[in-house]
Amino acid sequence: QMETNLQKKSKDNLRCPVVCVLGHVDTGKTKILDKIRRTNVQDGEAGGITQQIGASFFPIDAITEKTRPVMELHKVEYNVPGLLIIDTPGHESFTNLRTRGSSLCDLAVLVVDIMHGLEPQTIESIGLLKKRRAPFVIALNKIDRLYGWEPHPELPVQQALEMQADSVKAEFQQRYDFAVRQLQEQGLNACVFYENQDVRTFLNVVPTSAISGDGMMDLLFLLSTLPAKMLIDKIMYHENLECTVLEVKAIEGLGTTMDVIVVNGKLKEKQKIVVCGLEGPIVTQIRSLLTPQPMKEMRVKTPYIHHQEIKGAIGVKICANGIERALAGSNLYVVGEDDDEEELKDEVMKDLGGILKKVKKN
Ligand code: GDP
Repeated sequence: QMETNLQKKSKDNLRCPVVCVLGHVDTGKTKILDKIRRTNVQDGEAGGITQQIGASFFPIDAITEKTRPVMELHKVEYNVPGLLIIDTPGHESFTNLRTRGSSLCDLAVLVVDIMHGLEPQTIESIGLLKKRRAPFVIALNKIDRLYGWEPHPELPVQQALEMQADSVKAEFQQRYDFAVRQLQEQGLNACVFYENQDVRTFLNVVPTSAISGDGMMDLLFLLSTLPAKMLIDKIMYHENLECTVLEVKAIEGLGTTMDVIVVNGKLKEKQKIVVCGLEGPIVTQIRSLLTPQPMKEMRVKTPYIHHQEIKGAIGVKICANGIERALAGSNLYVVGEDDDEEELKDEVMKDLGGILKKVKKN
């Protein structure tokens, strides 16, 4: 089976890279997510983003539309089908995911407030990302707070910077240099992305403002081009299921549900699954697979769409019996005909130690 899966992997069949946003509190993680979601939503209808469970899906057409000036400047085309951006920064269960070396995220955005530089949680995040060898970019956010900043969200940020008064340019340079020196102290070489000649040696920095919108297209551009340069093997779609539980919660009318991110492979209704539970492995059956209704159908009575089958990368809600004590951060396995259920139960409990330590700490 391995063989056929390997054969199927190809550069012509890429999945969406899964992106998460990290950083110190108040650096603008939520605002950045809101901003890129909103600018896309305004365009409405076709090509717009779709809200998934725990994540937003940005189809490549919508990204192309939004980032054309920067694409033209750098003469680069995209080859990923879109981006799946996890939209729960700082979420409790996220803390588990960050520490577990989970394969949930392919690429991270580490948000730094340009007025503050690196802060304690920034440094903690850097430690985790390094440990996992997870590639990331730095969003040097709140550039609109540089004194006298003139917003130019319609331009690539490099050009927006060129348009600024000399005093603004000087303040930017000084604060940017400071952040770069701080990163160096953490053992990281960093460089503003449009001058970066070597993405394997230098971390990309993108100046942004979630308020004025400056640098937002550059951030999307970077997230859409870096995977092909750095992670091409990792984002080739394959059928081996990679699925992580984001959150377990009771929903009126549905009972207890699990929000999961399927990075690779498929899930089907009725499948037998195993997840890690507080009192031991939980074996159950998928009753339904749900994603939210598209925004324009919000007036429809049921807020969810049912799926018989879904394919990664995607965020979905699973309804199943007996999952009240399932743990966020757990892997999810499907028990196939040829699988040894006991083996999968052992496998799924291996992460328990790590998760529990975190749960206690919180
Ligand atoms: P989080 O804790 O990292 O999710 O930060 P938030 O997104 O909640 O932002 C914290 C505060 O900073 C809020 O008051 C935001 O309005 C503000 N903020 C976020 N991004 C920017 C930005 O780019 N420029 C400015 N001036 N304020 C921002």
